[in-house]
Amino acid sequence: MTRPIRVDIDLAAIRHNYLIAKRKAPASRAWAVVKADAYGHGVRRVAQALADVADGFALLNIEDAVALRQDGVSAPILLLEGPFDAAEVAAMAEYRLSGALHSREQLAWLAKAPAPLEVWPKVNSGMNRLGFAPGALAGVLADLAALPAVRVAGVMTHFATADEARGVAEQWARFEPLVRGLGLPVSSANTAALWDFPDTHRDWVRPGIGLYGCSPFADRLGAGLGLRAAMRLSADVIAVQSLAPGDAVGYGRLFVAERPMRIGIVACGYADGYPRVAGNGTPVAVDGAPSGLVGRVSMDMLAVDLSHLPDAGVGSTVELWGPAVPIETVAAAAGTIGYELMCAVAPRVPRVYHGLGQA
Ligand SMILES: *Cc1c(COP(=O)(O)O)cnc(C)c1O
Repeated sequence: MTRPIRVDIDLAAIRHNYLIAKRKAPASRAWAVVKADAYGHGVRRVAQALADVADGFALLNIEDAVALRQDGVSAPILLLEGPFDAAEVAAMAEYRLSGALHSREQLAWLAKAPAPLEVWPKVNSGMNRLGFAPGALAGVLADLAALPAVRVAGVMTHFATADEARGVAEQWARFEPLVRGLGLPVSSANTAALWDFPDTHRDWVRPGIGLYGCSPFADRLGAGLGLRAAMRLSADVIAVQSLAPGDAVGYGRLFVAERPMRIGIVACGYADGYPRVAGNGTPVAVDGAPSGLVGRVSMDMLAVDLSHLPDAGVGSTVELWGPAVPIETVAAAAGTIGYELMCAVAPRVPRVYHGLGQA
């Protein structure tokens, strides 16, 4: 028997979520953002699951993009940070990959670009991560017009606070006048803007986190947005301990029993990607019943309260996050966001795929 931990990926949920995202912006096309190995869900399997519905895929590294082409994906693929060196420009042409264009360095590599090459100049509208200053866009477009191999597919930007009360107004006010009247496609909306700022939808939206069933908003769960959790991390109880009042659990004695308790030791720890900082009471589901963590998460194990669950014991399945335990809630208990937890599931945890006849 192998170590009883797994991450189940529901491809039908990802498909459902993509179609929900499309319904939020019915007049736009939508890149399925599958960077970071599809937020930990497996980029090749996710692309396969969306192949006949997705308008396109957006990711970061050219190796993944080439893998999708080799798998037969023919939809547009966008490299969200564009080429990282001149050699990647040639590969972009060979594999028909479009790319963000955010720097003068990238612009210089394009001078020798083979045709056909599609780029999306990126405007830094206030995030100050990637992109040209708003005042530089016209010059960049003029430089690109002089390159016969290069086609400008559109203009893009990215929002820093679409998920927060601050919203997108300031960035949108810098960006929208620049692209107004250019006659070029426009792309700006991540999941949060797709939900809350329809003005920003325009030609292409870029939902990421929502595809996996997780909300980008601190005060709303994915389920409340009509989304289905695509990832379920679960592990079995491998031992049971009975505690007397005063007994402590785990490293640092972070939890001390005040009454007689039964606890289950679960085959999941921070080396599997479960956050070590998640404290006492962080929610789990034991054979479907709500419970919570007790004591400190260790490398390969954690402990959960079974006191109210007399039928639970060795072999019980504990959902750490998934349809019964919102990943947003676990993330909040760990001071982080669902994005980070999804991406951090360790390679040693076997992935099992479901949905679309791929069980
Ligand atoms: C990651 C990313 C997205 C998707 O963001 P979500 O919040 O996951 O929807 C969109 N655009 C760019 C440029 C990104 O890097």
